[in-house]
Amino acid sequence: MNAPRAPLKSLDEALAELLAHAGLLSGTEDISTFDGDGRVLARDVVSALHVPPQDNSSMDGYAARCADVREPGVVLPVSQRIPAGAGGQPLQPGSVARIFTGAPIPAGADAVIMQEDCEMTVPADPQKGTLGSVSIKGLPQSGQWIRRAGEDVTRGAVVLSKGERLTPASQGLAASIGMSILPVVRRPRVALFSTGDELVMPGDIAPEHMPPGAIYNSNRFFLRTLLQRLGCEVSDFGIVPDQRDATIDALREAALQHDLILTSGGVSVGEEDHIKPAVQTLGELDLWQIAIKPGKPFAYGKIRRVPSAAAGGDMCHFIGLPGNPVSSFITFLVLVRPFLLRLQGGQRVTPVTTALPAHFDWPRADKRREFLRVRRNAAGGLDLFPNQSSGVLTSAVWGDGVIDNPAGRSIAKGDTVQFISFAELMG
Ligand code: AMP
Ligand code: MG
Repeated sequence: MNAPRAPLKSLDEALAELLAHAGLLSGTEDISTFDGDGRVLARDVVSALHVPPQDNSSMDGYAARCADVREPGVVLPVSQRIPAGAGGQPLQPGSVARIFTGAPIPAGADAVIMQEDCEMTVPADPQKGTLGSVSIKGLPQSGQWIRRAGEDVTRGAVVLSKGERLTPASQGLAASIGMSILPVVRRPRVALFSTGDELVMPGDIAPEHMPPGAIYNSNRFFLRTLLQRLGCEVSDFGIVPDQRDATIDALREAALQHDLILTSGGVSVGEEDHIKPAVQTLGELDLWQIAIKPGKPFAYGKIRRVPSAAAGGDMCHFIGLPGNPVSSFITFLVLVRPFLLRLQGGQRVTPVTTALPAHFDWPRADKRREFLRVRRNAAGGLDLFPNQSSGVLTSAVWGDGVIDNPAGRSIAKGDTVQFISFAELMG
């Protein structure tokens, strides 16, 4: 095939272009706060109350007025007992209140003295209904061991913002202001296809019976899981049919029900396969050569939906990833992940990088921006996986992240480089 050479694009250009196509999905849903992890908020969440709702004790001990404790060793009677969950009475001057962690501070008290700093001089007598007396060792500071009302959240504050991706901590925070239900953008529906006549599914043919040239389909496994981690509903269609008409039918059908069709393989320049002409028949397709390593070939397109009203829009996005496993993996993380987060309205879609020292030499500068698979070591630096080939998936398992190495840059031991952890990229 006489394919024209696609223009080389920087990763930043490619990402900006992709994100420009990633219009917010129409449709939100109210979900249980329990199910919020990884979902993107569709609206701001505003607190209807202070958290904590009132001043409360952060210790088990005695609530007092500082003015009543002028010198160490003062003995004061215990005038009431306030467990967590109870409301106390105003504190009688010249007395202390027995108080427990989380219990509201009685009116008039301005400090809590922890029980370790008090000694009972007269024990409580339940039969007589007396609460005893305590001697206070030190001098309390006004405000000590008191958690102030609203110190976590104030009434009316935006606690979680539209476009924020929920985490276990944000689920807890939402619950702390009484939210049992949260409004989130609906899940993207993604159709996943693999391409390549050489591909065999693990389990279909045993390793000892693999025909020459056959390889197992590994991309399908990490792509499906990565999609699910990003909140997508995945329809996995397996390997693309090996006929052009069947491919067109499969893509047309998938476009009706999905927001994105994601494929791996078959986007190299000049390669013969059914996907490219099929997408071109059904819509439009741009083949990109992205100046990154691994992962150069990449395709973005759109497939028209017939009828156009189905699934909330008239076009289904199409993304074609390279077939080499590490290229597929890395291009997913740096391009598809931000795209899918942005479809859901996500605001923070690109990962945080950390400056760390390289503990290795990488003398060969590359013309392309590289994502080198590395691992943090106990000495606070980064070790490099020795084989950085785009087919060596072991590098992505051994590594716990990548160095984002600019084009044309060699690395000498001790140089500061930009590290992105897989935890950041795969969450
Ligand atoms: P392609 O991008 O189709 O030219 O494929 C590039 C390389 O990746 C070839 O060696 C393919 O065999 C391999 N490959 C393509 N798809 C997969 C897959 N799903 N799993 C594992 N390897 C693949
Ligand atoms: Mg192929």
